[in-house]
Amino acid sequence: MFYLHDLYCPECGAVFATGALHTFCTACRSPLLARYDLARARAELDRAAFSARPRGMWRWHELLPVRDPACRLALGEGDCPLLTAPRLSTALGLPHLFIKDESFNPTGSFKARGMAAAVSAALELGVRELVVPTAGNAGGALAAYAARAGLPAHVFMPADAPAANVVEARLYGADVQLVAGLISDAGRLAAAAAAEHGWFDVSTFKEPYRVEGKKIMGYELAEEFGWSLPDVIIYPTGGGTGLVGMWKAFAELAELGWLVDDRRPRMVSVQAAGCAPIVRAFDLGAERAEFFAGAATLAAGLRVPGPFADRLILRSLRESGGTAVAVGDDEILAAQRELAQAEGIFAAPEGAATLAGLRRLAAEGWVRPGERVVLFNTGAGLKYLDGVSA
Ligand SMILES: *Cc1c(COP(=O)(O)O)cnc(C)c1O
Ligand SMILES: [Zn+2]
Repeated sequence: MFYLHDLYCPECGAVFATGALHTFCTACRSPLLARYDLARARAELDRAAFSARPRGMWRWHELLPVRDPACRLALGEGDCPLLTAPRLSTALGLPHLFIKDESFNPTGSFKARGMAAAVSAALELGVRELVVPTAGNAGGALAAYAARAGLPAHVFMPADAPAANVVEARLYGADVQLVAGLISDAGRLAAAAAAEHGWFDVSTFKEPYRVEGKKIMGYELAEEFGWSLPDVIIYPTGGGTGLVGMWKAFAELAELGWLVDDRRPRMVSVQAAGCAPIVRAFDLGAERAEFFAGAATLAAGLRVPGPFADRLILRSLRESGGTAVAVGDDEILAAQRELAQAEGIFAAPEGAATLAGLRRLAAEGWVRPGERVVLFNTGAGLKYLDGVSA
C-alpha cells in the first residue's frame, strides 16, 4: 500500500511525478512538498492499526515516501518520549506543559528523522553518493544513514561546529570538509560539489523528503494527545523542517479524518537573538525573510541566516495564529540549567531555547494556564561540550 501521489510547488503549483529524483522548484526556487492520495488512504487505513504496530517512525510508512520496505533505513528513529515537566509546570503556572524529547533519536538529535526518510528515498531512487551542508547535527545524521545504506556521504560544516558533529560524521565514514563561515557558505560549496561530481544534495528543503520524516512528529503528537492536538507548539527554528512538517501533518490528519475536533496548535518559532531572520520577518509582516548578517549563537542548529523555506515557515506561523520569539544566548544557557536541575533533562541549547521562549510568552499572557503546551527538545546536551565547564 503506497499513497504518495506527486510532488508540488506550493508557490507556483508546478507538479512533479514520483518515481524520479527531484530537488526544488527551479521556476520559483521554492521547496517541493509531497502529496498523498489521502482520500484513498482515508477509505483504506484505520488509525488504530498504526498505534498497534512496533514503535518507530516507519510504522507510519503509508504516509511516507518509500515504497520498498528493504529501502526503509531504520536505526530506532521516532517515538521519542513525551515527558511531563511537573516542577516547571508549577513554576510557570502551566499545568499542561510537555516536552517532546527528541534527544532519544539515533545520533542524538531529531535530524535522524529527516535523514532516515531522505536517505531511504534516495536509496530507492538510485542515488549513488550524497552530500549535505550542515550546522552540525544533519551531518552526523546523514553520515549514519548513509553508512546504513552503504552509500558514500560528504559533509560540509562550519569549522566551529560542535566537535561531536565532526567526530561522529567522520566515525560513520563520511568525508567531512570544514568550511570557514556559516551553513550558508557550506551550502554554496556543497551545491558546487554536487554539480561537479553528480552527488545528491540533501540540504534542508532542497529535496522533498527530509520534511516528510520530520512531519511524523506531528502524527505522534496527535496520537499521544488522543487525536486532539495540543494548543501551542514551541519549536526551535533553523531551517524550519519540523515546524513546516508538523503543520503539514496536521492538515493531512484532518484530511484523513483522524482528528476528533478542528483545533490546531498555534505554532511558535523560537530563534536565537544572534540569528533571528524568521522573528524579524514575522514582526515586519513580511512574506520572505531577509538574510541575517553576522549570525552568531551558541545554539549551532539555530545558526541558519537564510532559511530556504522562509515562505513556508512564515505561512505556518501565521495560518496557525502563532508567533515568533528571539531569545538571548544567556537566556538559553539559564534555561538549559533549569531544565536539567528541575526536570533531569540535559537539553541541547536549541531545545533549551524553547523554554526561554515560553517564559516570555507566559509572562506576556500569550500562553494561558489552561493550555496544553509542547516544547521540543531537539537534541542531546551531551553533543555540546566544547568549552563547557560545569
Ligand atoms: C537542526 C536543528 C534545529 C533546527 O531544526 P530545523 O528543522 O532546521 O528548524 C534545532 N535543534 C537542533 C538540535 C538541530 O540540530
Ligand atoms: Zn514553483
